[in-house]
Amino acid sequence: MRGFKLFRPATLDEAVALLPGGRGPAEPHDARPLAGGQDLLTELKDHLVEPDALVDLTGLHELEALEVGDALRIGALCKVAALEHQPTLRAHWTVLAEAAASVASPQIRSQATVGGNLCQRPRCWYYRNEAAPCIKKGGSECFAESGMNKYNAILGGGPSYIVHPSDLAPALVCLDATVTVSGARGPRSLPLEEFFTLPTEGSIVRENVLKANELLLSLDVPSLGAGWTSTYLKARERGSYDFALASCALAVKLEGERIAAARLVLGGVAPIPWRCPDAEAFLAGKPNTPETWAAAAALATKGAEPLEHNGYKVHLAQGLVQKALRRLAGQEPTHAGGAR
Ligand SMILES: Cc1cc2nc3c(=O)[nH]c(=O)nc-3n(C[C@H](O)[C@H](O)[C@H](O)COP(=O)(O)OP(=O)(O)OC[C@H]3O[C@@H](n4cnc5c(N)ncnc54)[C@H](O)[C@@H]3O)c2cc1C
Repeated sequence: MRGFKLFRPATLDEAVALLPGGRGPAEPHDARPLAGGQDLLTELKDHLVEPDALVDLTGLHELEALEVGDALRIGALCKVAALEHQPTLRAHWTVLAEAAASVASPQIRSQATVGGNLCQRPRCWYYRNEAAPCIKKGGSECFAESGMNKYNAILGGGPSYIVHPSDLAPALVCLDATVTVSGARGPRSLPLEEFFTLPTEGSIVRENVLKANELLLSLDVPSLGAGWTSTYLKARERGSYDFALASCALAVKLEGERIAAARLVLGGVAPIPWRCPDAEAFLAGKPNTPETWAAAAALATKGAEPLEHNGYKVHLAQGLVQKALRRLAGQEPTHAGGAR
């Protein structure tokens, strides 16, 4: 690991000033924010990033908050583990609690922060191999496109085929969360759905709209409202802990035997959390039956263009969508075997 300076600012202003372009007193050339370190330290050890300095955010205690009321406010430094255990959150924002519980291992969740989870870098093995100068690291080629692409994108890919690795991201997009980031002219808020960027949008070496001198500060998550229920299902190769091969964040509003409204976001299949507007529109007003679930699942993966080794993800994602709809219809025991 290359040596670096470690700054421990006590205020947000100090932290932002230390980031590139912040004009802080000892502004380094390339400083990176450090939260729980569960991703960034691996990147440093593997020489994927070699900044001059790290700006340790953990002294910014105002970013640790988890406020649970009519809505949720989640600070960027709130631990992922805090989301799985809060009883009101589990009851009313179930999709988020279940997504949090599916992240990595208990030890990692106790260190990892929500902001770090949303800003973590891709897990594509070409990106993670320091000897592979892939397009995400400033090279000219996505080696996954014609290489070992079992874990890569089936939707929204090209010219990079990474998938977004966060489990919290699909759940929070499903909940219509708003994110607040520090900007050059003060904090600004935007829908979380607009925070994430496809490889064809913004900079290909980033996965979101944040600039190098900006921080994710907090998330605001509205209540789903009366009649809504939600769930998160994730398929992974290793049962103990693993990133998603595919996942499904689903919220539905039920009225009698019908689905009045639905929100559906897939994870593990695209470079961003993949919202499924056609499936959402189709589900509104439909009878809550297996035929409806199958048709919605097919619409969820509309436009999929699998690579040589990841065609299975189409069927996996469709299966998760049907299973999630079945679960919210009360016909699937919670935490049944297989995908959870
Ligand atoms: C073995 C293993 C298994 C894992 N499995 C899963 C999984 O199943 N699902 C899943 O979702 N994740 C998984 N992860 C990823 C893990 O959840 C993330 O590494 C972790 O959440 C990152 O949070 P952190 O606070 O440690 O961030 P850090 O490692 O400190 O930072 C991560 C990145 O975000 C940036 N950053 C951090 N905070 C901010 C901020 N407030 N504003 C702007 N940029 C910021 C950093 O500069 C860095 O680039 C796994 C990780 C490991 C090591």
